[in-house]
Parts: sequence; structure tokens; C-alpha cells
Amino acid sequence: MSYFFLDGYESMETYNPGEQPHDRPYIKLNANESSYPPSPAILEALTSVQINSLAYYEDPYNIKLREAIGEIYGFPKEQIFVGNGADEVIAFIMMSFFREGFPIASNDITYDFYRTYAQTFHLKYRKIPVKADFSTDVDALVECGCDVIIANPNNPTGKAISCADVERIVKKNEKRLVIVDEAYVDFGGETALSLVDKYPNIIVVRTYSKSRNMAGARIGFCVANQDIIDDMRNVKFCVSPFNLNTLSQVIGIAAIKDTKYYDECIKEVIETRSYFESELLRMGFEIVPTVTNFCFFKASGIIPAELLTERLKEHGILVRYFGFEPRTKDYVRVTIGRRAEMEIVVRNMKAIIEEYQAEKVSNARRAAS
Ligand code: PMP
Repeated sequence: MSYFFLDGYESMETYNPGEQPHDRPYIKLNANESSYPPSPAILEALTSVQINSLAYYEDPYNIKLREAIGEIYGFPKEQIFVGNGADEVIAFIMMSFFREGFPIASNDITYDFYRTYAQTFHLKYRKIPVKADFSTDVDALVECGCDVIIANPNNPTGKAISCADVERIVKKNEKRLVIVDEAYVDFGGETALSLVDKYPNIIVVRTYSKSRNMAGARIGFCVANQDIIDDMRNVKFCVSPFNLNTLSQVIGIAAIKDTKYYDECIKEVIETRSYFESELLRMGFEIVPTVTNFCFFKASGIIPAELLTERLKEHGILVRYFGFEPRTKDYVRVTIGRRAEMEIVVRNMKAIIEEYQAEKVSNARRAAS
């Protein structure tokens, strides 16, 4: 730690992103990325003219990209803000609207970045316990009386709440902001976009990282009423006016228009998810029903969750383990890849479980002799 580091930052608990190792090829199912390539339309969009335009700053108003996104979702560009991934969009929301020392509520089991944002922006992070089945305690959020951020569907649980429940939270807290992070909504959740023109206190956040197969392009956006978007733009102009690079804007426009391609990818992910869920059930695992591009299931009972995670990595498959929280330490989260990848995962899981059972038997025999 340097002499200059701010007081209080020395104890900062940083976000722990899913590992991205490059020591060997992996089937990468630990960060809810897509195994499908981005739309082929983005290759056509990337011409030498676009590449040469890298010599100049991009449009800090991101007008063309905001127009393209707005057209798809039925909002004028004035209601769209774009950023370097949903993570940055949420950071701008925090910077713009949340006061130091004030509370923000979220599910206690959720995307851990919310906690780190609260820490970074000196907010009080109020954790609303999820229910025993990991579902959101909507009543508690309705009554919380403070700003709210929820992932809907939630990560890592895969559970979602209805638009009507989001509306109850928004309606009851009209002087508080409700941020609905819909990173996974395209895989089967219910969007709250219809509430944006009805309530001035809701912000819906989206990303290209999951259903648009473009995590590496770092494009996220949010939809809200125009005053909110104007405020966020003003803050952005004080922090990082050129926050989204030229090439991401060009490919972001081409990608958002190719709904046919993405709808096909999403349909395949949903079909593969059913296949994987039924295989998990056949292996005896307890699964948490999901409407996302990942499955969260209880491994312990059949094989300790951490051991399964480690052994899958030895077999070249990366999945995510959440051992830091007592209620999730028996669970593993696996992103849904392509069908062929998931068949390899299933084969390897079966082999790992068999090996583990055999080890258990031989250890028991050794102990008894
Ligand atoms: N929101 C949720 C709920 C997520 O799980 C993630 C990434 N895992 C993000 C946002 C981050 O999105 P982006 O890649 O656009 O920053």
C-alpha cells in the first residue's frame, strides 16, 4: 500500500471477478458469458474507415448507438445512457444519485459488485435476506424506505421477480430510486421497461455481455426518464466523457439490430439449459429453477461443491463456487454453454462423481481395517 492511499481504503474488500486463466484451453462457464460468437453483422460494420476513425475522439454523446438501442426497445435516445459495460453504468448511477452515508438495499445473496459499489461510494449497504429458496423478499424491499438495487433475474441464484412486484417496490418508494439490473432478462425473465414511462424513479440496466455475446466489447446501457439520463450525462462529462470507445460503438449498433441472430442464440441456450437441468436432476442434484443463462445447484450431498469445482477445472472446465457465504457454500454455478460443451460437462461430472464415490469407499475400508 502506498503512502498516498486514502484512509479507509486499506480495508477495502475488492470484487472478485470469475478467473480468466490462459494456461490451457478451458470450457469457460464461470462468468455467465456466452459461448456463441457475436453477430456476423459486426464484422461487416468494421470497415477500414471505422478503424481509421480511431485517430479521433468518439462522439461523447454516443448519439448513434443510443438511437439504435432506443429503436429496438421503443425509447427515444434521450432516455438511454450508454457505458463501458453495465458495471460502469451502475457506477455512474451511484455517482449521480446516491449520497454518502445513505442506505441502499439489495438482496443479501446477489451480484457482489453492488456491495463493492456501496463501499466505494461510502453508502450503507442494507442486505435484505433472500428467502430459504433464494427468492427475493419483495415485501421487505417494498417496505425498506431507501434506494434499491436488484438484479432481476438474480445472480447467482437465477431467481426472478415479476414486473408487478418490481412495480410494488417502485410505487411504494417514489422518492427513492429503484435500479433494476436486467443483465439476464432475455433468457426468460420479465422486463420492467414498461414501468420507465410510468414512474420517474426507476432505472433499468442492460448489458451486451450476456444475451448479445459481447462481454469483451464492454457495452452496457440504462433506460430511464430523460431527467435522470441528463443528470448521468453531466456526471459522465465530469469524469470520463469518452467512456465508450469508437469500435464498441460501431459494433454495438450493428449487433443490436441483428435481433434474429440473437433470438436464435437465446433459444438454443434455453434448450440447452433444459437438457443440462434434466441431466443434473438425473445425477441426483438439487437444482434452483432458473430463467437465466446459468444453473445454480446444490452439489454437496453428492460431492462437496468446492471439490467438484476444483476437479472440473482439472478436467479443463471452469465453473463458479461461492464458498464465502454459508448459504451458498454447497452450491455451484455453471453457465450454459453450447450443447456440445454441456455434454462434455455432463460426461466429466459423471466421471468425477464416480471417482469420488470410489475414493470414499476405499477411504472407509482403509479406516475400518
Ligand atoms: N449485472 C449482473 C447481475 C451481472 O451478473 C454482471 C456480470 N456478471 C454484470 C451486471 C456486469 O455486466 P457488464 O459485463 O456489462 O459490466
